[in-house]
Amino acid sequence: MLPIRKRHLLTLGALLTSLTLTAPVAFAGVGGDGIGDPYWPQDGNGGYRVGHYDVKVGYDPDKPDELTGDTTVSATATAGLDQFNLDFTPTFDISTITVNGVPARGFTREGEHELVVTPARPIRRGARFDVRVVYSGKNGDTRYNPETGGMFMAGEPHSATSWFPSNDHPSDKATFALTATVPQGWTAVGNGRPGPTTTERGRTTFRWREDSPLSTWTAVLAIAKFTVVNAALADGTPVISAYAPGAEAAARQHGDRVPEIIDFLSAKFGRYPFSSAGGIYFNEDIAMGLETHSRPLYPGTAWNDVVGLIVHEQAHQWFGNNVTGRNWRDICVAECFATYAQWLWSEAKEGKDLDAHYRELVAVNRDKPDFWKVPLYDPGAEKYLAAVYRTGPLMVHALRRSIGDDTFFRLLTRWQELHRGGNASWPEFEQLAQRESGVDLGGFFHAWTRSTTIPAERYLHLGPVR
Ligand SMILES: [Zn+2]
Repeated sequence: MLPIRKRHLLTLGALLTSLTLTAPVAFAGVGGDGIGDPYWPQDGNGGYRVGHYDVKVGYDPDKPDELTGDTTVSATATAGLDQFNLDFTPTFDISTITVNGVPARGFTREGEHELVVTPARPIRRGARFDVRVVYSGKNGDTRYNPETGGMFMAGEPHSATSWFPSNDHPSDKATFALTATVPQGWTAVGNGRPGPTTTERGRTTFRWREDSPLSTWTAVLAIAKFTVVNAALADGTPVISAYAPGAEAAARQHGDRVPEIIDFLSAKFGRYPFSSAGGIYFNEDIAMGLETHSRPLYPGTAWNDVVGLIVHEQAHQWFGNNVTGRNWRDICVAECFATYAQWLWSEAKEGKDLDAHYRELVAVNRDKPDFWKVPLYDPGAEKYLAAVYRTGPLMVHALRRSIGDDTFFRLLTRWQELHRGGNASWPEFEQLAQRESGVDLGGFFHAWTRSTTIPAERYLHLGPVR
């Protein structure tokens, strides 16, 4: 994600769902209402892991707050389950829930977004099971533009809950299929590659499938009267770009650079991790860019640094989407590197002197304790995005100079290979950096990612750590 500092129609705060925090409970045979996130304890659930989501939705722009849905969650039980939870907004009416095709014995809604399902028969540990939920009514949180009728569902740190039942936490990644039916003339865009589009009785159904595991909050449903532009990377990977009405004039020249940007990032981070790419370009100010999986989402006219924003969200396809943190404490594994990717782009394409830029930022902020006070690792739920954009790239640049370019870029590609499609924590990144460089980086990382004051001089300087 990259918040945009400008006129905000929707504030960043409005994008972050606030949740009532209560301690997770886990009884024998009961999955539990949280997966163990320290910041959002009720996000995700215990007792199972999801392998695949099959999400079918219907949307009518005349009823922008509503959605019909028919979602099947395919999961594997990690415990014997008499009962399990899904994360799902209580605003929907649920008509049926089946488990392996058999109607559930019952279900209840609890807390902010817990859907507690009791299957007709207990699920034994290790068993695969399909939960199908059919629903309709008000969705949890549409981002809707009344002028164009365009909408999207996506948001950080949790957004799946508002449109499909899920294990809504980054640590449970799954493949994802979206089938979206809209009035003829409208286009629905999702993650991954498109399937066949069919039109029947004035309604068009779009199909999308992402075969690399995605984090639920990077799943996207975007609907507008899009202009869809098809291109490809050099290796043939499709690049699918969707421009909402009014967006193409300003955004197209930048969106057309996505293959060049991905080519650039591939040279730095290793091969592009997914089987499709692209972007979704809106015209309204949605106050952020968001790294929705394989197809990032962009605001319209509020762009300060247009190419930089695309570079940032595309870099997230490696840092954040291919390798995802284990929980939100690990936000630096995503944002520190996506932000630094913008530095790399400026260095290569604009001849920017990064050492000079680094020194200037350190000098300007040297006597500002607030600039340094939020740690990059485990910054806290309230401030989880506060530091990563400002001290994050400084830390990454200092690390690069500490271990040298060869080791630095080898470390980044190694990180991507080691954890391809999975999750890894910030401390695991530190350990890998130490291993790849053969340098004792304990003091460096403590000063840069855990301390709440400016790092000591020996860690601030640009050169080998002594
Ligand atoms: Zn970001």
